[in-house]
Amino acid sequence: MIISGKELSAKLKAEMAEQVATFPARYGRVPHLVVILVGDDPGSVSYVKGKAKASEEVGIRNTTIRRPDTISEEELLGMIAELNADDGVDGILVQLPLPKHIDEDKVIAAIDKSKDVDGFHPLNVAALWQKQPCTLPCTPKGIIKMLKSAGVVLQGSEAVVIGRSNIVGLPVSKLLLDENATVTMTHSRTKNLGEVTRRADILVVAIGRPKFVTADMVKDGAVVIDVGVNRDPETGKLCGDVDFAAIEPKASVITPVPGGVGPMTICCLMENTIECFLHRVKQA
Ligand code: NAP
Repeated sequence: MIISGKELSAKLKAEMAEQVATFPARYGRVPHLVVILVGDDPGSVSYVKGKAKASEEVGIRNTTIRRPDTISEEELLGMIAELNADDGVDGILVQLPLPKHIDEDKVIAAIDKSKDVDGFHPLNVAALWQKQPCTLPCTPKGIIKMLKSAGVVLQGSEAVVIGRSNIVGLPVSKLLLDENATVTMTHSRTKNLGEVTRRADILVVAIGRPKFVTADMVKDGAVVIDVGVNRDPETGKLCGDVDFAAIEPKASVITPVPGGVGPMTICCLMENTIECFLHRVKQA
């Protein structure tokens, strides 16, 4: 079974659009997401366009602010302070990566926690690890939704995650743990990686290396979630971290690249924006 993130996200976005359509009558306005794009990295430009398109589909107001990569850290922090103070803004997203002269951690921490639609603010991260209410990071949240939509049993399953980044590997491991999976986290220093991954009922791969996971690393019938977004060095086309053609016949469930985790990440960003909006309007 191939889980289409494209189809699942289309269904969820249509449901969100119906919900958002009721907001002007109930709350006097729709959610407002502000995306800040620094520089003109083609990958970042394309991600930001995708976020604006999804916002339009769902009925969320989207403002994209573009600044050259010469912007100073002080200027960027000043913009964030203004957006934090603006009652008409519900979500603030600074597209990463930022130019080297800007401290990303400082920028993320400057965003008001209640408008942190990416779920990267240290207080949101702490809340996730303490099982407190929080905004969940979009990619891990989307992965759990995909697994559940496919009816994958998480409780008691052996889950192996490759990669331990703050945005994918670490939080998805925590979410799987919260679903009562038995989680093993692996990384570039893991010895005998294949031995570990072959144990996995559920294998989540977030490394950033084209087709790194080969068929011999995967158990028959495993569920394989491919987070990677890479260019295939041979064809130049988008590909994941998993050798899809070789693993698909062996896996019980697998996600494609493109059209898998990527669309679900954007879908969860829309959901987070609505959640932040509702939290704010209900408090007002
Ligand atoms: P990252 O911050 O670069 O982290 C990569 C992780 O992979 C690190 O923990 C690293 O281990 C591990 N790793 C690297 N080489 C390895 C190896 N040979 N064996 C085992 N582990 C290895 O990457 P990221 O931000 O998590 O992103 C990973 C991939 O997912 C990228 O392709 C990115 O574009 C993609 N991504 C996709 C989405 C989406 O929505 N589809 C969202 C986010 C990211 P160490 O910690 O030991 O260095």
